[in-house]
Amino acid sequence: MNKPLVAVIGTGGTISSVVDDSLDVLNYPDISRKMNSAEAIARIQETERFAQYVPLPFRAVGSSAILPSDWIELAQLIMRTAQERPEIRGFVILHGTATIEETGYFLNLVLKTDKPVVLVGAQRPASAVSSDVNMNVLAAVRTAIDEQSIGKGVLIVLNDEIHSARDATKTSTYRLQTFRSHDFGLLGHVDGDRIEFYRSPVRKHTLESPFDISEISVLPRVDIVYSYAGADATAVDAFVAAGAKGIISAGLAPGIPAPLERKALERAAASGVLVVQCSRAGSGRVARRQYLCDQGMLGSDNLNPQKARILLALALTKTNDPDKIQAFFEML
Ligand code: GLU
Repeated sequence: MNKPLVAVIGTGGTISSVVDDSLDVLNYPDISRKMNSAEAIARIQETERFAQYVPLPFRAVGSSAILPSDWIELAQLIMRTAQERPEIRGFVILHGTATIEETGYFLNLVLKTDKPVVLVGAQRPASAVSSDVNMNVLAAVRTAIDEQSIGKGVLIVLNDEIHSARDATKTSTYRLQTFRSHDFGLLGHVDGDRIEFYRSPVRKHTLESPFDISEISVLPRVDIVYSYAGADATAVDAFVAAGAKGIISAGLAPGIPAPLERKALERAAASGVLVVQCSRAGSGRVARRQYLCDQGMLGSDNLNPQKARILLALALTKTNDPDKIQAFFEML
C-alpha cells in the first residue's frame, strides 16, 4: 500500500539546527547551521516507515526572526500546495519554539483547509546528545497522517503532546516540557502504539474562521504594552507615534494597567487606536468590563498578549468597529 504523502515545510529553528559540538545546547542559536526541510527529514530514517514526503523549503532562521509577512507567505504556500496537490494528507512545519505559537495561531485563523497542519519544534538542536528532534518530528508526522487530526485546527506537537495552536504557549526557556495549554489543557498524546485525543477545540478555526488569506496582503501595526509597577505613558505614546492601529495592554492581572499608562491608553483609544485589555498573567479570561466598554476598549478573552495581537491585527483588516472585533475575540 502506498504510504501517505506529507508536505514538510522548513522554517529553521532549533529543530533544524546543527553544530559541531554535541554538548552545545546553549550557544547554538548564534552559530548553528540550519537544515532545509529535505535534509531535516532525510536524516531521520524512521520517518520512512510512516509516509512519503514533499519537502518545501521556506525559511532557515531562528524563529525570533520570523515576521508577520512570513506568516502570510507561509499560509499562501500551504493553501497553494493543498490546492495543487490534493493527495497530500497533511502538513508538518518545522519551526523554532520561540514564536511557534504565534505562527500557529495565525495559521489557525486563516487556513481554509481541514487537512492536518502540525507545527513541530524542539528544545535541543539536532546535533545534541539526547536531542528531542527525532521523536518530535516522528510524532508530528504521525499526528499529521492520523484521521483524528482532521478538522481540529492547527496543532503544535512537542514532547509527545498535541496542543491546539490557539492555546499552547512556551513557558520555559530550556525544559523539554516547555509547552503548556493554560486553562484547558492539551488535546492529546502521541504514544508508542497510537495517537490518543482527549479534547477538541471549541473556538472556531480554519474553515470556520472569517479570515481569508487571499484577501490579506499586509497586517496593520499592533503593539504590545507590558505593565509593571510604576509604568508610565512612554511606551503607549511611542507606539501611537509609530503608527500603531491597535495596542494590546498586557496589564496587571486581572487586566489593569498602571495609572499613567491607563491615561495614555484612554488617549490612544479616543484617537481611534483599538485598545485590547489583556493580562500579563498569560492565562485566564479578561472580560469586557464596564470601564472597557465606556472607553471603547476590548477584552482579550483568554488569549495571551502575543496571540491577542495576531487576532486584533487580522480583525483590523476587516473592520474598526469595537463591537464586531470583540465578537471575534469571543469566537476565535
Ligand atoms: N529555539 C529558538 C528558535 O525559536 C532558537 C533557535 C535559533 O535561534 O536558532 O528558533
